[in-house]
Amino acid sequence: MGKRIVIALGGNALGKNLAEQMDAVRTTSRAIADLIGDGHEVVVAHGNGPQVGMIQEAFAEYHRNHPGSDLMPLSMCVAMSQGYIGYDLQNQIGEELDRRGIPVHVATVLTQVAVDPADPAFLHPTKPIGAFMTEEQAKAVAAEKGLDVMEDAGRGWRHVVASPMPRQIIEIDTINALLDGQHAVIAAGGGGIPVIWEDRYHLRGVPAVIDKDFAAERLAEQLDADMLIILTAVEKIALNFGKENETWLSEVTPEEAEEYARQGHFAPGSMLPKVEAAAAFARSKPGRTALITLLEKAREGIVGETGTRFHM
Ligand code: ADP
Ligand code: MG
Repeated sequence: MGKRIVIALGGNALGKNLAEQMDAVRTTSRAIADLIGDGHEVVVAHGNGPQVGMIQEAFAEYHRNHPGSDLMPLSMCVAMSQGYIGYDLQNQIGEELDRRGIPVHVATVLTQVAVDPADPAFLHPTKPIGAFMTEEQAKAVAAEKGLDVMEDAGRGWRHVVASPMPRQIIEIDTINALLDGQHAVIAAGGGGIPVIWEDRYHLRGVPAVIDKDFAAERLAEQLDADMLIILTAVEKIALNFGKENETWLSEVTPEEAEEYARQGHFAPGSMLPKVEAAAAFARSKPGRTALITLLEKAREGIVGETGTRFHM
């Protein structure tokens, strides 16, 4: 029986530049077409770290060369990243389906995601984006433009932005309608375009980057999906990752996963948000399953043969 599945694609599914993206998206598209061919309803969410950084930098450079031009707001940079990544995925998944004679169309939905303006994340920006700077450059930018800057893991200074929790997928009805009309959908790219409700009618973009794994989880809950699949660079999650006593996990309950997270087994900013998102989805309703695995293992993972499965 076909399931409704939300897939979150990690960085390795898209590559870090256009040349890598051409190769990576072809492989990714085949794997996604396999799942659609198996009769599943599929929604694809994806990251945008390198891409949104590149777009922002390109506009910052333009602004430096053309004084008086606009500084592109980060929310618009996220929208642009959704556009060109979605274009590539929609084009190549569509081609794969067509070759296989599968009568499913693919559409990208520019997706806004409402966040809470009172989210404490706005007081503590944690997400580094864009190019590296020297400490002097960073401090000058911070003073001049009122941006937050931070030293990033010994590699240099960077602009940091808030990473608030996703509260509401604004285009949820559109995504649902497309699924009901036999479309595969690409949505909530880069965690979604972060917006806040200014009043009953007006949504305003805010300078933030939402974690794509949390956004995919919210999307999966709001679509009443059966599965949330987080595809990344490891086949399973591990306790004592990278140590001598490393132990790979195949099945966990949300409670176990959260206990392991408290014990510090998952790296913040990489594996931790995935584990938190997977646990939250598995707990959100009986019968819901989350899976963390490799892109090439998605099909085996769905039938329970590999990956780490989260369920109550
Ligand atoms: P993505 O681009 O898919 O979001 P990330 O690099 O952010 O990927 O996160 C996945 C990485 O998390 C893995 O490749 C692995 O190196 C790392 N990781 C950290 N802790 C663990 C753990 N306990 N088990 C497995 N992988 C882990
Ligand atoms: Mg990540």
